[in-house]
Amino acid sequence: MVHLKKLVIASSNKGKLSEFSALLGSFRINVLPQSHFDVPEVDEPHPTFIENALVKARQACHYTGLPALADDSGICVNALDGAPGVLSARYAGEPKSDQRNNQKLIEKLRDASDRGAYYYCVIVLLQHAEDPRPIIAEGLWRGEIIMTPRGEGGFGYDPYFLIPELKKTAAELQPDIKNKISHRGKALASLIENLKP
Ligand code: IMP
Repeated sequence: MVHLKKLVIASSNKGKLSEFSALLGSFRINVLPQSHFDVPEVDEPHPTFIENALVKARQACHYTGLPALADDSGICVNALDGAPGVLSARYAGEPKSDQRNNQKLIEKLRDASDRGAYYYCVIVLLQHAEDPRPIIAEGLWRGEIIMTPRGEGGFGYDPYFLIPELKKTAAELQPDIKNKISHRGKALASLIENLKP
């Protein structure tokens, strides 16, 4: 069991901040965004999600002197050997654009027979900048890439990400449903399990 009173979230994404605050608030943990401490944005140069999440969390610990939580996520496509992976947000280059990312993905998969893909999320919690044993939680959400977008919800690759059992894309799911079954939802649930007494 980890005893935490205060925790910094190493993210500026409002959606993530409110999701994390809601779940961790029930553990009576005072959750603060890193913007409260002027933590600068950090580069994410590493080839794996876990490395990038650790860099973000470590920087937040370093600047605040508090425990920090960071996540990293993306979509990995079988036919592309796991790409876009850690480059998901900027797959089609700068400035980042969901529309151009999706166009590039569809173009690459035009002749692919395997359209299988998964969203992946890793969350790390460091108690301090030199913590040798981060708490690590993962979540994976399998689906397949379709060529014609469906749905108005979600963000990123969601309109092209079909969940075959539901016959719906991630963009066609109600937000509360998506939050429960998504890679991020699963990673958060696993983190909560690790925090329980
Ligand atoms: P980050 O973890 O906020 O850096 O997200 C990386 C990128 O992965 C996002 O910009 C999206 O392109 C993609 N991504 C991660 N999670 C999702 C999701 O739930 N739906 C759609 N795209 C996602």
